[in-house]
Amino acid sequence: MAERPAPLAVTGAVLDGATVGLRCEEGTIVALGPGVGPRPGDEAIDAAGAPLVAPLVNGHTHAAMTLFRGHGGDLPLMRWLREVVWPVEARLEPEDVYWGTRLACVEMVRNGTARFWDMYWHPGATARAVEDAGMRATIGGPLFDADGDTDGMRKTALGNLDELADTGPRIGAALAPHAIYTVSDELLRWTAEQAAEREIPVHIHLSETEQEVSDCVERHGVRPAQYLDRLGMLGERTVLAHGVWLDDGELELIAERGCTVVTNPVANMKLAVGGVFPYPAARSAGVQVGLGTDGAGSNDSLDLFSDLKVLALAQRHAAGDPKALPAEEAWRIATGAAAPLLGGGELRVTGPADFLLLRAGSPELSVGDLHADLVYSASGSVVDTTVVAGRVLMRGGEIPGAGEIVARAAERSRRLEIG
Ligand SMILES: [Zn+2]
Repeated sequence: MAERPAPLAVTGAVLDGATVGLRCEEGTIVALGPGVGPRPGDEAIDAAGAPLVAPLVNGHTHAAMTLFRGHGGDLPLMRWLREVVWPVEARLEPEDVYWGTRLACVEMVRNGTARFWDMYWHPGATARAVEDAGMRATIGGPLFDADGDTDGMRKTALGNLDELADTGPRIGAALAPHAIYTVSDELLRWTAEQAAEREIPVHIHLSETEQEVSDCVERHGVRPAQYLDRLGMLGERTVLAHGVWLDDGELELIAERGCTVVTNPVANMKLAVGGVFPYPAARSAGVQVGLGTDGAGSNDSLDLFSDLKVLALAQRHAAGDPKALPAEEAWRIATGAAAPLLGGGELRVTGPADFLLLRAGSPELSVGDLHADLVYSASGSVVDTTVVAGRVLMRGGEIPGAGEIVARAAERSRRLEIG
């Protein structure tokens, strides 16, 4: 996909109740407000009263796991990984990852996600898929040395970083150690050093199950966040996925170090982890929070609107308090505005030209407060147009080439004979 689209102008959009226009050049918003219109040579869109909003940011996923969707859904986490996922992953080819990720991108674009944080094998193939799909992503190949081959993993990780270094401006590289129960102390320490030296993010699963916490205390004498801190892993470029079992002391430590926690409420409920991310305590401690779907193998949807609703419901329900997570705050979490590292945030001039036009006249959005409607009433089907880096990836719900992508991904999944 060419890096330099023609300037794009949108007119007749509705932002915070006012009719506005928006112009983008070279992937950046250059004008936004009443009276902004197209210049000669611009690609022009008449939004015809459609609400204009920031896109969603999926802070934790394994995009190519669309290939695993609908398999082993009734198993607990460790049995699902050992019996269904890991044996198949051992024989994955880059083309499997490419088409699995293309399918994920179709779904995410359709449901209003512009950017995602990915952890998966063959990250070069993921990057190629993201590039071709026109999205943004921060991508890391998983680090994993439960088999004892720490040296081999270091080589693979460095090779992955080299491969990701050649990708375009919409893609960033990360180091992605899988979890504290699958990666050795030595490899975690090395990861922290490499990430600091290269100034790139670290993306890791943490405190997903209660077992992980009790095993960590037994082995290392401290809880998971304290253990990672001891290894130098907690910093401003660290993304911790899940955090279901973090206690107050860990949340304070995480806030102090400036890490981001990405909560994945649907995947947590589907895998029946038995708890809810302690958002009220995280908020009091000042932790930066994002929202993720996790992989389609454990969700199984990539429609972040459903995760947004479940996030708000789970927090209210667990706290026994309808004020536990107000709708506008939930929307800020889903768009990345509550965690700057994730790369989202509010629409602004000089900001990235990433935005959504929602269907004008959507029944779900036609009455009441927009944020409340977006959180509790909408699904991804309210998204009409998705623009990323000034390029229209979906217009009128249509994504060019989607049919072929769906067919190719299904073919790759069948070939893998997932049990
Ligand atoms: Zn995950």
